[in-house]
Amino acid sequence: MTAASRFATVIVIGAGQAGLSAAFHLAHRGFVSALEDPRAERTFVVFDANDSPGGAWQHRWASLAVAKLNGIFGLPGTRQPELDPAEPSRDAVPRYFADFEQKTRLPIVRPMSVESVEYADDEEDGELLVQTREGMWRTRAVINATGTWNTPRIPDFPGAGSFGGRMLHARDYTRLEDFAGQRVAIVGGGISAIQLLEEISRVAETFWYTRREPTFIEGHFQPETTGRETIAKVTADAEAGRPIGSIVSYTGLIWNEDARAAHDRGALERRPMFVRIEPNGVREADGSVVPVDAILWATGFRADIRHLEPLFLVNELGGVALRGTAVFGEPRVHLIGFGPSQSTVGANRAGREAVADLVRDLSL
Ligand SMILES: Cc1cc2nc3c(=O)[nH]c(=O)nc-3n(C[C@H](O)[C@H](O)[C@H](O)COP(=O)(O)OP(=O)(O)OC[C@H]3O[C@@H](n4cnc5c(N)ncnc54)[C@H](O)[C@@H]3O)c2cc1C
Repeated sequence: MTAASRFATVIVIGAGQAGLSAAFHLAHRGFVSALEDPRAERTFVVFDANDSPGGAWQHRWASLAVAKLNGIFGLPGTRQPELDPAEPSRDAVPRYFADFEQKTRLPIVRPMSVESVEYADDEEDGELLVQTREGMWRTRAVINATGTWNTPRIPDFPGAGSFGGRMLHARDYTRLEDFAGQRVAIVGGGISAIQLLEEISRVAETFWYTRREPTFIEGHFQPETTGRETIAKVTADAEAGRPIGSIVSYTGLIWNEDARAAHDRGALERRPMFVRIEPNGVREADGSVVPVDAILWATGFRADIRHLEPLFLVNELGGVALRGTAVFGEPRVHLIGFGPSQSTVGANRAGREAVADLVRDLSL
């Protein structure tokens, strides 16, 4: 292992809402840019793999307009953003992030992906090694804020390799026209599945598959109230080190405009999950085959923490046990935008908490 020449007291990985929140609070507590003042007592730097500001928002499908969102919390120190409800969120939110970055002048390096975080051979200094695409850095603590966008959840299904049609995950959905006149299986019981079902059923014959019978709840999603109960449940799982399910698995589905429109069109007819994929379609539990041209997996995402593998954080349950935002037993590593903080409001809170905990627990 080569000695890393560059050092930052704290390294933030990812500049979505969670990473920006952490960076904002580091700056607020007097940490300075490791790029501009590397000899300062307390320094930090943010590495972000994207080419431009906006975190995962910049990659979301065009029809995910601002009006379709549950609500976006303002980045720390700013007011709630006033975004045009009709504008695609992939344009509106990144523009807001870019404005924030320009005003705060946080030390963000991009595009710069982190390939791994490792324990230093010489543990005496209590440092971690952060391997970026362009060399190694040493650090006393890592705040990981890498989101989920790059790790879509696609079930491993028997027969998948034989399918002759188009198979894609929601993250790769771009144009409604691609499905015109087709027969499309849409898999998933979350908000994105409902939105895409509503949309695609306007131009195609859709078949909606979910593993469990979806539970719809009346009313609107209120991040501060509905959110609080959900956070308590997800936190309990995170503290126990259990893998975190999708948010809808904790909240139930909101009976929103998309659900109503799909229902009115007769598209909200849930079918129990198929059992096998065939070359020309999907085989249901009774043995019959439903021919389809495309299978769209709206099956969510998992935390993108592949670069943390050398730290052996994942337990035998497949989860990572947390205390607050810190990894249980490894107070130098915080996971934010993870588990209970997988929302814009959660990301804000987690960024603030991670910084406060690091300053307190590691005396940074
Ligand atoms: C379809 C969809 C709709 C949503 N709607 C809402 C909503 O209405 N309201 C709400 O509050 N939340 C919503 N969320 C959740 C919300 O977007 C996120 O929880 C929130 O934005 C926090 O994002 P983040 O910072 O954790 O991750 P991201 O925005 O994904 O940012 C992660 C950043 O890390 C970078 N990165 C990843 N890996 C590396 C690496 N190895 N090295 C360096 N950089 C890396 C990425 O390039 C990216 O810029 C939605 C999520 C989805 C998928």
